Order: sequence, then structure tokens, then C-alpha cells
Amino acid sequence: MLSLARSELAWQEAQRYLAGGVNSPVRAFRAVGGTPPFIQRGAGARLYDLDGNEYIDYVCSWGALIAGHAHPDVVERLQRAVERGTSYGAPTELETALARRVVELFPSIELVRFVNSGTEATMSAIRLARAATGRAKIVKFTGCYHGHADPLLATAGSGLLTFGIPSSPGVTPGTAADTISLPYNQLEPVEEAFSQAGGEIAAVIVEPVAGNMGVVPPAEGFLQGLREITRRHGALLIFDEVITGFRLAPGGAQELYGVQPDLTCLGKILGGGLPVGAYGGRRELMELLAPLGPVYQAGTLSGNPLAMEAGLATLELLRRPGAYERLEALSARLADGLRRASELAGVPVAVNRTGSMLTAFFTSEPVTSYETATLADTARYARFHQAMLRRGVYLAPSQFEAAFVSLAHGDEEIDRTLEAAEEALREIASS
Ligand SMILES: *Cc1c(COP(=O)(O)O)cnc(C)c1O
Repeated sequence: MLSLARSELAWQEAQRYLAGGVNSPVRAFRAVGGTPPFIQRGAGARLYDLDGNEYIDYVCSWGALIAGHAHPDVVERLQRAVERGTSYGAPTELETALARRVVELFPSIELVRFVNSGTEATMSAIRLARAATGRAKIVKFTGCYHGHADPLLATAGSGLLTFGIPSSPGVTPGTAADTISLPYNQLEPVEEAFSQAGGEIAAVIVEPVAGNMGVVPPAEGFLQGLREITRRHGALLIFDEVITGFRLAPGGAQELYGVQPDLTCLGKILGGGLPVGAYGGRRELMELLAPLGPVYQAGTLSGNPLAMEAGLATLELLRRPGAYERLEALSARLADGLRRASELAGVPVAVNRTGSMLTAFFTSEPVTSYETATLADTARYARFHQAMLRRGVYLAPSQFEAAFVSLAHGDEEIDRTLEAAEEALREIASS
């Protein structure tokens, strides 16, 4: 039986000093119930909590840790780097090295700007798009999450979807009015929005594979259609590849689907577990940024040397022969095994997967959109989550998130996970 006695004490104490006991809402486990395990350390594909429980981790810091926890290469680079100081607020060669790597991997990116989070990346990319086009409005898709900047909070996925928050109080009506929210995976509403307000739309921002309503891959032709429509109307196409960048292919979803956006937002894997975001695109767009151009964006800790080192070490690990094949093979086994377990237990589950990101939705319908994602039985997911946690498998504490497979996962982890899933689903079927 799982004891969380120490985590429970830590949780009580956390709630005395931190708003909601956490620094990011979904960590509070409200959607799945129970005490969030307080983590003491991570190693490879495993997490260890204060009570000494061990878990196979499929959150992997929300996808950032594609090399797993405390990979020796990342740790060693960080240890060496920290001796030289933690921040200078002045240029380093590390920033150039990581930017060069990004430019090599993403043909749509000629220049890069590093920031400290995915939120900052999308917020800044939108500012740049507005400046470049002289237009105000942004099109986003319901259920896509692009961080918590005001213009992007309307009908966002992730935590907002988990908590049933359509938009956030504190976002002014004026800001909200500049955001047009449309259904993911449908082109007609995009055509319609452009035919009505084309001259006012600065950009379309999209998760090329949605990960924040659970994993929903793009419908055939959706991304190509967005490319064509935005080009025709002189608007920019922004791919938010904060999850998909470096995960689905070295050059992200744009490489996988063969669609080149004007601007790309990166984060998570790029920082190898340290706080990083980045945005980039064609030279003439990026040269609008200060100091070359008038669009202001800055950061005290941007391009932080430790974060650059962790990112460089992580991208180096992804370069090893067979890295993506390994992620693909393990993730395919996991997805197939979950489907089989669901059939065996008679608990309908729709497993969506693109590469090493996947979601098991508790629904009998295929999940191809926000609407179909939200048909999932969240109470069932909560029971599944608890049953898996008890069996040492740490899944995202919400139905509307992805599970991430890392390079540190192996056949042993997948086998153990599938055994746990078979038991957990049987338990759900009989309750
Ligand atoms: C996580 C995420 C963000 C926000 O990144 P933060 O580093 O949490 O600010 C933006 N877009 C997508 C697609 C994300 O998954």
C-alpha cells in the first residue's frame, strides 16, 4: 500500500505559504484527488518521493526531460558550469552554440531569441507578429495552450481545461476581443474568420500536434491549410512547438509534417530541465527585435548559462544514432499495450499518440478534436490515475495532458507500466 504520510505533512505545510500549495495549478492533483507526492529526487525514468515511493515517470517535467532525470551528461555539464558562475547578464558563446543548433535543426529559423519560459516565447512571438503585420488580432484554437500570457488565455487547454475555466478573470475585455478562438482541426472556420477580418489578423498560433487537451494529432491537411490561408491573407503562421520541438523529430512537428511556419516557439526540451524558451524565424522578421529594430523584448536571465548547458547536453543526447527510433518503438509498445489492456478489461479507451507523446482518453469515441476530447470520462481517469500511482506509475494528474516517454525509459519500464495498467483497468471495470 502506498504511504504518503510525509508528503501529506509537506502538503499541509506548503498550503500555508504557497497559493494553493503549488507554483503551477495542475500539480495540486485536484482533478485526480489525493495528496500530491512530494518529490525528493529523480533518476532516469524514475521519481522518488519523500516517503521513499518509487514511480515510473510519464510526466518528465511536462515533457522537458526527454533524456530522463539527472542524466549523467547533463549533470556533469551543469556541475562544471556552475563553478564558473550562474549568470552574467552578458553574452556567452553558449548562447551562440545553442542558437546555432536550433538554426541547423529548423530550416524555418534563421535567427533565435532565448527567453525563460514557453509563456515568454509565445507572448513575444505574438508581439513580433503584430509589429510585423501592423495588425492586432490573433487566431488560436480552443484547447491549445500557449502559456499564460493574457491574449492567449481564451479557451486555452491544459490547466484551464482541467479546471473548467473558459478564460481567466483579470484578462481585460479589450485583450480578449483581439483573440479569435476557433475549433482545432477545422479549416472552414479559419477561412471564414479571414474572410470577415482578414485585414486585422496578425497571426494564427497553433500547437502543430495538440498536447494540452490531451494529444490530438493534426487532421490531414490542417497544418498545410493554415499555411496556405495565412500566406494568402498576409498573416503569420506561428507554430508553438514548446512540446513538439525536438520531440517528434529533431526539427519538430514542422519537419514531421513538412510545413514551414513563419515563427516557431520552443521551450521544455530546449532547456533540458532548466527554465528556457525561445522563438525564432526568418531573418527579416527577427531583425525587428531590439537592438536592431523597434520591437522591445528583454530578460535579466535570458540565455542563462546553466540553461544553455543543459539544453546543449540534451540536444547532444538526441543526436545519438537511434534516439528517435528508440522513442518511437517504446511509445508504440506502450500505446498498443494500453489499447490491448483496455479491450481485455472492457474499459473503453481511445489512445492517441504521435511519437513519444500520447494520451489515453477514457471514451469509446475517437478523439480528433477539442469537442471529442472533452467527452472523456474525467472521473474514470481520476480512478485510473490513483490506481496507477498506487502501482508505482506516475501519470499526469489530469485527463487533458500528454504522457511523455523519455530516452531513459526502456522495455522494463514499459512492461511494468502495462502490467499496472491491466490491473488498474480491471479494478476500474469492477468498481
Ligand atoms: C508548456 C507549454 C507552454 C508554456 O511554457 P511554460 O514554460 O510553461 O511557460 C506553451 N506552449 C505549449 C504548447 C506548452 O506545452
